[in-house]
Amino acid sequence: MKIYPFLLLLFLIKSNAQQPTIKKVAGAKQAVFSFIFDDLNTSDSLVKSIFDEFGFQPSFAITTNRLNPKTAPLYKSYAEEGISILSHSHTHPKMNNSSVLDKESLLMELKDSKERIESYGITVRGFVTPNSYMRPEFLSLLDTEYDYAFTNNHNDLYNISVDKRHLGRFGIESNISTSDHSIEKIRSRIDQAIIRKELLVLYGHAMPSTYQDDLGKPRVTANDLRAILGYLKSKRDNNDCLVLTADLAMEAYYK
Ligand SMILES: [Zn+2]
Repeated sequence: MKIYPFLLLLFLIKSNAQQPTIKKVAGAKQAVFSFIFDDLNTSDSLVKSIFDEFGFQPSFAITTNRLNPKTAPLYKSYAEEGISILSHSHTHPKMNNSSVLDKESLLMELKDSKERIESYGITVRGFVTPNSYMRPEFLSLLDTEYDYAFTNNHNDLYNISVDKRHLGRFGIESNISTSDHSIEKIRSRIDQAIIRKELLVLYGHAMPSTYQDDLGKPRVTANDLRAILGYLKSKRDNNDCLVLTADLAMEAYYK
């Protein structure tokens, strides 16, 4: 019967088509660093001026219940300079627990905060989850609203294999020495990111930090930030890495 070779051929074509395609992920060419300051604090202008000293640009993740006609013009002017403005939700709820926040409310937080920032003529591409972690069941809600997001669903990886809507960040406050303001741990994490060609996004809040060191003083001061930026500048000037505002960092790393 001639039908059998034909069926066999069909079977072979079909089984071949069903083989999973192995996604080839090209490695990043070099490490990319970015800095995001959360919440919308009055010290954001100090942060901006410190970055100016080094010729770098920070990014700001805004909790939009603090955004109003009084506070917005500053961020609009930053956006016009090329600084990335991200959403950090409207009311800063925890997004790690569906019993606290249901899907509908979460979607409102995502949409509403973005629209509020955009209503001032500021483009928004990124989102930062309040308190860092977003429950996996909520992640798909980000897809229609944001190009990239920090949700801490990244399995401790900071490379090109991480979906750019599931990124993690590296805390300045949690990694600076609480006894003597040494930035040694941050410096060595920067060195490691350069070797591994990672996308490492550092973050902070108010400046000086409202988190305290062992002496009850601000855990991160303006001079601590200068020390970190000075170290990164020496690396960038040596062509070891790029230091970019968040939107540009994503473009450069995920191109
Ligand atoms: Zn926050």
